Amino acid sequence: MQITLSLPEFDATPATTWTGEVLHDPDAGLCDGCGYERNGLMVKLVPFGWLHAEDEDGAVTCLQKAVDRLAAPDMTTAWTSIAQHVAKYPHRHTTATIRAVITELAKLAARPAADR
Ligand SMILES: [Zn+2]
Repeated sequence: MQITLSLPEFDATPATTWTGEVLHDPDAGLCDGCGYERNGLMVKLVPFGWLHAEDEDGAVTCLQKAVDRLAAPDMTTAWTSIAQHVAKYPHRHTTATIRAVITELAKLAARPAADR
């Protein structure tokens, strides 16, 4: 089964003056992945926070690194993260997706604590 999440995003590309000077907004905050200033497309992925989602140099983005960590053996974190997004935006998901997420959470809850 494939579940597509529509994640919150915003463009943190800094404004420039008419002379081309880049005006970094000191209130824009930092990327929760790498700790550098937010810039370009930023995407929020629970539980990581706001992450760089594009890289001009073709390097692996902070978002991709976070997704790769979710796909690691820790299925509890992965399903919990998906469930948080589905719960926040239920109208964006089909009944089948919501049912699948609830079923997986129930399986996780039913497992002995030592297996989690
Ligand atoms: Zn980053």
